[in-house]
This record gives sequence, C-alpha cells and structure tokens, in this order.
Amino acid sequence: EQERKVEPIGRELVRRLLPRRDPEGHKGTFGKVLCLCGSVGYTGAPVFASRGAVRSGAGLVFLGVPESIWPVAAVKSDEAMPFPLPEAEGRLSLLAEETIRRRAAGCDAVLLGCGLGRGRQTDALVRRLMDLPQPLVLDADGINALAGHMDEWERRRGRVTVLTPHEGEFLRVGGDLSQGRTAAAEDFARRSGAVVVLKGPGTVVAGPDGRCRVNTTGNCGMAKGGSGDVLSGVVLALLGLGMDAFDACCCAVWLHGRAGDLAAQEKGQWGMTPTDLLERLPQALREVT
Ligand code: AMP
Ligand code: MG
Repeated sequence: EQERKVEPIGRELVRRLLPRRDPEGHKGTFGKVLCLCGSVGYTGAPVFASRGAVRSGAGLVFLGVPESIWPVAAVKSDEAMPFPLPEAEGRLSLLAEETIRRRAAGCDAVLLGCGLGRGRQTDALVRRLMDLPQPLVLDADGINALAGHMDEWERRRGRVTVLTPHEGEFLRVGGDLSQGRTAAAEDFARRSGAVVVLKGPGTVVAGPDGRCRVNTTGNCGMAKGGSGDVLSGVVLALLGLGMDAFDACCCAVWLHGRAGDLAAQEKGQWGMTPTDLLERLPQALREVT
C-alpha cells in the first residue's frame, strides 16, 4: 500500500513542544504518575516503565505490582515507589481495583499494561479501569485485554487515552493494517477516541482529531524485549506534566528513538539494551530543553 506523506517528528518540533521546567517547581509541579505493570514472569517490564518515567522528568513515580513480585520491584527501584497489589495466579486480580482507584485519584496520569500477563481476572480488571478519569496510557496486555471489546472504548469518551501497540497488539485490538500504517493508525484513533502510537520502524502517532505524524529517530537495535516498556514510561511522564496527549506522544517517541540512536552509536545495534535507552534519555532531553 502506498504510504501517504505525513509530517515528520524532528528535533525542532520536540524543542518547541516540551514545556519549560519551572525553576520554582516542586515534585508535585512536575507530575505524579502511577504505573500498573508486571506479573510473575515479567519482573523487568515494571522497572523499565517506571524508570522511563523517572528519566523523563516526572516528579513522583508510583509503581503498583502483584504482591508476589513486589520485593523484586522494591529491590530494583530507587526513585520509583513500588507497592503491592492483590493477585491471582501471579497476575493482578479484581481485588486490586479499589486500591488502584484510590492511588490513581492522587495522580496526574496512569499507565496500565507492561508485563501484566493475560488471564480472566487481569483482563476484566483492565476493562473495569477503562472509566478512570485520569489520562491513561494502555500498552501491551493492557491493550490485549481489550481485544474483542470495542464497546469499552465508549467509557473513555471525553477522557485522555494513549495506546502504544506494536503491530501484533494493534491487529489484536481491531486495527486494520491493510490500508497501510498511517491510515490504519488514523482510522483507529478516530474510532477509539485515543491517541494511537503505532510502533515499529517509523512509529506513527495519530490523534482522534485527525492529527498525524511519523517519527524520524530509532533503529533496529531497539527491537528487543523491554524497549516498548521504556517508551510507555516516557509517554506517562509527559502526560503527567499536563502536555496535550498528541504532543506528548510525538515528543516521547522522538526522545525514545534518539536515546536508541545514541545507544547504537556507542554500543552498536546488536548489543545495546533497553537499559542503555534509559541511560541515554537524559542526553536526548538535553538536546531539546
Ligand atoms: P515493543 O515491541 O513493545 O517492545 O516496542 C519496541 C520498541 O522498539 C518500539 O518503540 C519500536 O518503535 C522500537 N523498534 C522496534 N523495532 C524497530 C526498528 N526496526 N526500527 C526502529 N524502532 C524499532
Ligand atoms: Mg511491548
């Protein structure tokens, strides 16, 4: 399929969109964000996501994980603040709902997804949380849980939602790639009311209002488990700052890809890791702030 020409996301755009950091600001000024991630078997994802937020300027980062992996998350977290949530079979259970709602109420943005795993209760929990009033980032199994439930999108009307699928997740949740990546992302953004970040070489960002852009940074050294989790954290932090969701996603994908390009220059595409992305986010941010 012929890909239509779309406006690129470049350094100058990101420089223009990112807000100034208020010299008088305190932790609360720069956003309190909540990551709901992880399961037995996915202990890295919550750490990549929460560190992605920490490295992107968030004031406070909370991390809710299933109780059995909480000690692991606690040992691996310094800046982020992990807390345990009720689980069933190693994944978040429906009993976690009340605590999550209470914690979310004190936050400026919420991420639901990275490494959640799939099961009847976890999938149901994700769908119940679709009415959270806070800006919500859905990634990975947070997206998978919505497969076949297009009706649930109604419950986010009037709320800010970001979806960060790779092509597999995009197809599972009802995206149609036969029209090409750009049109597919635009179409799904309009139908769902969410900002869609369709990942891959040339990540497409599409808004429900018809805005659409394509990223110019990133490389195949990022095609490794954990890279996407870092991106979710970057998006979360920028949403927590109160940025417009489409602009936040454009900045996040550029910064994440730029960190990947810096990592590739130093370490090479073969051996670079998602941890290398985290370590280069500060340099990517310095180029545009
Ligand atoms: P995930 O599949 O959720 O782990 O996300 C992978 C991340 O790496 C996304 O941000 C992709 O855009 C990025 N990525 C994967 N493969 C490539 C590639 N070949 N070129 C550029 N970016 C890539
Ligand atoms: Mg992923």
